[in-house]
Amino acid sequence: MKKYVKMRFNADIENVTFARGTVASFLINEDLTLNEMNEIKTIVSEAITNAIVHGYSEDATKEVDFEIILENKILTLIVEDKGIGIEDVAKAREPLFSTKLETERAGLGFTIMEIFSDELKIESELGKGTKVIAKKSIK
Ligand code: ATP
Ligand code: MG
Repeated sequence: MKKYVKMRFNADIENVTFARGTVASFLINEDLTLNEMNEIKTIVSEAITNAIVHGYSEDATKEVDFEIILENKILTLIVEDKGIGIEDVAKAREPLFSTKLETERAGLGFTIMEIFSDELKIESELGKGTKVIAKKSIK
């Protein structure tokens, strides 16, 4: 059976906490280790923070779509924004690459998402937006 949640929220950085809590609640009966749960919550925070900070430059009137799907023990997390998009996805995925290094950004978000996922897809088009799809199998 496929179990899922789809939500849309405004691009307020405070909603990162909300989304972390949502994914934890969604998985409450899955018997995950604390470590697995922390990895999943981190994927969610990094992807949603990117959508808000980079995609929308923290314009809280914009919207982020967030989907959580669980099917055959595969968890899929989808975060989508309709913001600025990424010019060079391959470069953006490189460790320590950031277009906001002058602020507190380390350029490690995608690297961390990649480590904690089994598969990480990034679809992006300049001026159109970005969709991040992370898959992780849970036992
Ligand atoms: P950190 O995540 O360590 O705080 P960061 O966000 O800059 O730093 P990544 O999360 O790895 O690092 O993202 C790398 C770069 O990809 C960003 O600096 C930004 O240029 C681009 N990027 C990532 N997500 C988006 C997005 N949703 N929309 C537009 N650009 C993005
Ligand atoms: Mg980031």
